[in-house]
Amino acid sequence: MTAGGPAATLTPMTTPPPDAEARRAVPPVVAYPPDALPPADLTACAEALAGAAVTAVVDVPPREARLFRAPAGSFFRISCPEAPQVGDLNLWAAGDWGERFYSGKTRAIHGTHVSTGDRLWSSFPHLRPMATIVADSLDWYGVDADGLGVHDVIGTRCDPYTARLLTGRDYDRCCHSNIVRALVREGGLAPEIAETTAHDVLNVFMCTGFDRATGRYLMKATPARAGDALTCFAEIDLVGALSACPGGDCGATHSSDEARCAPLRIETLAPLAPPRGWAAPAKNPYAGRHGL
Ligand SMILES: [Zn+2]
Repeated sequence: MTAGGPAATLTPMTTPPPDAEARRAVPPVVAYPPDALPPADLTACAEALAGAAVTAVVDVPPREARLFRAPAGSFFRISCPEAPQVGDLNLWAAGDWGERFYSGKTRAIHGTHVSTGDRLWSSFPHLRPMATIVADSLDWYGVDADGLGVHDVIGTRCDPYTARLLTGRDYDRCCHSNIVRALVREGGLAPEIAETTAHDVLNVFMCTGFDRATGRYLMKATPARAGDALTCFAEIDLVGALSACPGGDCGATHSSDEARCAPLRIETLAPLAPPRGWAAPAKNPYAGRHGL
């Protein structure tokens, strides 16, 4: 399938070498084998979640973002209360805006889309699990016939700069701007600090992938329906920001007021006791010398 107009790659200008096919036929290997990582104890998490009580509810209006807090050892659940809606999630270590969700390394470790058992990793030099996904009502979706899946870590976030380049218009309700406003109004950050504190996201409920022929980024309407939810365990004290994307279900367009949008909800849940055997992860033990 080719989508979105002409191929992103021009016709090659270089004559292939005689052994081109042999070079292409080299078998791939997994770049970051995750086998050495300690597995999430999903059974212990499920037991703790079963006895957990909702302690806070944050409703995110369409085309807005809201901050939420999740203490280490608690759970947070992101849901569509009314209708299909994509959410853009940022995470920080509470008390340190510099330790933030690292979308790219999470992608390298777990793949383009995340689901139950996957971790959400933090930025250098910390590189530790910030949260673990413990339940996903869309885990049945898998990879569809177009090669697309749900909950991606490939889509950065919709932003007014790219929108300006592509449309020539200023639009102030992209997820980047929504998160910036939330950081200013609820987090107390100066606008110029908020601008660089927002970061690449986990696209909750978004259905995305890449066109095999062109490599282009594709989206289709989320398979989420009212009541669908993604539940995470907070491995460390967290502050999160969730934006209800102006793309709505992201089935047609974004970065404008065209799409029908719905609210999102974040519930924080406190268990009676943390999961059996759980201990908050320490910061990455690399000595930090960098060969200097
Ligand atoms: Zn967005």
